[in-house]
Amino acid sequence: MKHRSFKSTGRSAIHFFLGVGITAVLVFISIFSGCQKREIIEPTKGMDSASELWIRVLLFDNIRECIVTSQSGFNVIDRSRVSASTFTTSKPVKVSLNSGMIRIGEKLFERQVSINPKKPYVMEVNGKLYRGNFKVIAGKDGFDVINHVPIEAYLNGVIGAEMPSYWEPAALKAQAIASRTYALYYKRRFGVKRNWDVTTTQATQVYKGVAVESATVRIAVSATEGKVLVTKLSDGNRGIFPTYYSSTCGGHTGDSVSAYGGDPYEPLSGVKCPYCKKVAKASFFYWPMAEFEIASAGRKIMARYPKLEKLERIVKIESHKVSDYGRINSFKLTGKNGDTGFLRGEDLRLTLDSGSRKIKSTFCSVMTINGKLRFYAGKGYGHGIGMCQCGAQGMARTGKSTTKILSHYYPGSSIENLR
Ligand SMILES: [Zn+2]
Repeated sequence: MKHRSFKSTGRSAIHFFLGVGITAVLVFISIFSGCQKREIIEPTKGMDSASELWIRVLLFDNIRECIVTSQSGFNVIDRSRVSASTFTTSKPVKVSLNSGMIRIGEKLFERQVSINPKKPYVMEVNGKLYRGNFKVIAGKDGFDVINHVPIEAYLNGVIGAEMPSYWEPAALKAQAIASRTYALYYKRRFGVKRNWDVTTTQATQVYKGVAVESATVRIAVSATEGKVLVTKLSDGNRGIFPTYYSSTCGGHTGDSVSAYGGDPYEPLSGVKCPYCKKVAKASFFYWPMAEFEIASAGRKIMARYPKLEKLERIVKIESHKVSDYGRINSFKLTGKNGDTGFLRGEDLRLTLDSGSRKIKSTFCSVMTINGKLRFYAGKGYGHGIGMCQCGAQGMARTGKSTTKILSHYYPGSSIENLR
């Protein structure tokens, strides 16, 4: 499966309508408490764990400067490990590029350094607090900041961003197992060829660091420590797979191969979901008609997919392949010259509406009429593949266990301990 397909499929948007408020409150509290008295932060766990249990999160990509602050001080170690410097200040320190070298405070370092905060192993980067260590890697005219964090500590910064922390413990635990598996899958599948595994956004999983940690999330993560989902792979062995999940499936989850192509996995073939309707916001379960000018929509699509330039001007968009329950897996596009082209459902949806504000899913109908492109009778929010997060909460509310939730949304999978 192409890398880009994976990136576009990892989306989960539930925090948009439920998590944002909570995050805002937490950020407010942390800013406020910063002026008063700092909360005592528990030391990051797993700092001595094996490297295969660490996740590398790309916090910033090609930036020219950033500010780091550590209440406990930090060490900076060059890649060659010949020089190490200790910073004892708890004041903000600027990181920038200087004549091709990395400048931290008043000191110059090689083009690749590790910044390792001391116990409790947390550091603020541009005002947000993260656990673990940090790698700064200089490029041509900017540098990347990558957070190296033990996976269990990483998950504490993911679950509270991906799911409301007041949801049922069984749903939070299901999310923790799905997110752990997803991160490790990404690390093994894509991380080997680059110096990071995941981003901080819906392109992979949302990660907000210490700001979204909470007691209920910590309990869910520690109760499932080391647990991942496995299934039968194409080579006959059992192993982890890309445990996609999304906010609200709208009544039936999608099938990853129809939607994106790539390797087939039994757990990603789609199941009925009678559970999200009662949990999701009504306007997310049934979303209102979304309308676009066909002319501008067509231009946007052709700019993103040059292979469609042969259509000259797109005059009609209709559904092409539709699942038996109504999810549009591909669209047919017709040009003024009569030529036709095709696009995957999610590719077209996210090209027109990258934030999923109007076209919330491909579980809808489409028509082109009087120069307008209309998406109507829409259901659900997100790509709909894998676990339905609102459905997981719906199942948990009726007393279903984490195991039951995961085996419903990922049929043919089982929970195993990482070795
Ligand atoms: Zn659902």
